[in-house]
Amino acid sequence: MTVPDLAALPPMDVAGRVPRLREAMREAGVEALLVTHLTNVRYLSGFPGSAGLLAVTAESLHLVTDGRYADQAPEQLAAAGVEATVGVSSTNQKALVADALGSVARLGLEAEHVSWAQYDRYAGEWFPDVELVATAGLVEELRIVKDPGEVARIAAAAGIADEALRRVLPMLGDGPTEAAFGRALDATIRELGASGNSFETIVASGPNAALPHARPTSRIIGAGELVVLDFGAVVDGYCSDMTRTVLVGQPDSETRRLWDLVVAAQAAGVAAVRAGVEVKDVDHACRDLITAAGHGEHFTHGTGHGVGLDIHEAPRVAATADATLAAGHVVTVEPGVYLAPHGGVRIEDTVLVTDDGCEPLTHFPKTLVVA
Ligand code: ZN
Ligand code: ZN
Repeated sequence: MTVPDLAALPPMDVAGRVPRLREAMREAGVEALLVTHLTNVRYLSGFPGSAGLLAVTAESLHLVTDGRYADQAPEQLAAAGVEATVGVSSTNQKALVADALGSVARLGLEAEHVSWAQYDRYAGEWFPDVELVATAGLVEELRIVKDPGEVARIAAAAGIADEALRRVLPMLGDGPTEAAFGRALDATIRELGASGNSFETIVASGPNAALPHARPTSRIIGAGELVVLDFGAVVDGYCSDMTRTVLVGQPDSETRRLWDLVVAAQAAGVAAVRAGVEVKDVDHACRDLITAAGHGEHFTHGTGHGVGLDIHEAPRVAATADATLAAGHVVTVEPGVYLAPHGGVRIEDTVLVTDDGCEPLTHFPKTLVVA
């Protein structure tokens, strides 16, 4: 395992995104879209700040932000290759947005991200003479297919997470607490160049391993106990996600059987991933094996999710989801079996969907006994 060279990441096609959004806007019947969800602002413009609105019309692109970003924002947009007007105001953003929108009659809002209070303000104060249209997922739909620059960032984040686990894993033999092991993993992820964790690291040992989303505790990790490690890194805004379940000492035969089952189910799910396949069929590939082994009721969550700027994004990989995988999707495959109070096993990889299968982006070996 080698640490990825973060200085050599290929560029992303940020400037190509707004033209694709405009097509989606036309189909949704809106002349303009006010993008308020910060992850979507970042995706479309390259602006990663903590406050910004993006007004997208058929011809123009305006970023409105506050005084803290007066110098940074134009530089960040230029670095991303995006041509946009940047308006800066801490007191009258309404006027800047109104100016940017001109005489637009139908304005789309991101319905999934606008609070009730914000909507009232937009309808009553900001745009009293404009028809506001609830749109859903216009930007999120674009985000599903990753360009090579995005894939390289997710792969780099995954590479850092792989290497961090390799460095920290020997510590399990010393009987650390869950929290201490998690802190060591998190610190190593940062030392290797990630900006942080893609979500709160899960270190769940013994009975805690039966809780799919346990938080690390002061519990000492003991010999013979299953330890679920679920964690990820962030590189240039992009997340990675991986789970390994390991054990110090000797597993009993039931533990070994359970681990082998989940590893086989996860491999079956990965083998089912290919462009053109329904997500529910990937879920079935994992779930059928687990159900046949009598543990169907102990696999209590969906099989996976998309990964990108958000740790959980479209498409959801589940029996109840309706989506077809396409080349350029990045999804996780993460079946688990949870047997309270004995423990649990989850194995997760993040993979890039291709025309004839998939390429794993997480590479850490799957080994039960690690010390
Ligand atoms: Zn995970
Ligand atoms: Zn996941």
